[in-house]
Amino acid sequence: MSATILIVEDESELAAVVADYVTAAGYEAQVIADGREALASIQRQMPDLIVLDLMLPGLDGLSICRAVRGFSAVPIIMVTAQVQEIDRLLGLETGADDYLCKPFSPRELVARIKAVLRRSSTLPTPAQILQIDVEARTARARSQLLDLTPTEFSLLAAMAKRPGTIFSRAQLLDLASRDNLECTDRAIDSHIKNLRRKLAVHLPDVDIIHSVYGLGYRLDL
Ligand code: CA
Repeated sequence: MSATILIVEDESELAAVVADYVTAAGYEAQVIADGREALASIQRQMPDLIVLDLMLPGLDGLSICRAVRGFSAVPIIMVTAQVQEIDRLLGLETGADDYLCKPFSPRELVARIKAVLRRSSTLPTPAQILQIDVEARTARARSQLLDLTPTEFSLLAAMAKRPGTIFSRAQLLDLASRDNLECTDRAIDSHIKNLRRKLAVHLPDVDIIHSVYGLGYRLDL
């Protein structure tokens, strides 16, 4: 059975093009133009993934996303008309799995849909991969203790708390400095690089920290 992708989009031409691509990729496409109608439909029958436009008649995408997160972890790809909007959304911690800015190529959207679905279906057994003890400030990968600096631990613990969430460099910087650790924006990249290298020693087969182009980093378990 193919996955159902709900496309919540009020620009009917765009919605039709996206639906065509989604269908051609082997998914079942469903299009709803009104926000309120979309939420009601999601409550009635949960799709496998939601492509959610931000500006919608009835109820905006952000409100829909928050409402859905109250009862479901269904993958959500948020679509916005402005690239600056993405930074704001990241700060709001919407709970969306990915963000895409208009105009986007439908091909790119299908690639994102595939990636998000793949991620959400390979979620099981996270505990076997990574264990974090916040009190002791220790982290283990497959039960092997990781030799982390305080900053690396802070970053890993913060991202592991919300797997699948994209953290901007500014957010990570903020998290690191909350623990009174000296850190600069550019240093975040090198901390993450070191963290990945240390994780790779015990997890050679899985890459759990991903860089999201232009946005920041995300941890997937
Ligand atoms: Ca719109």
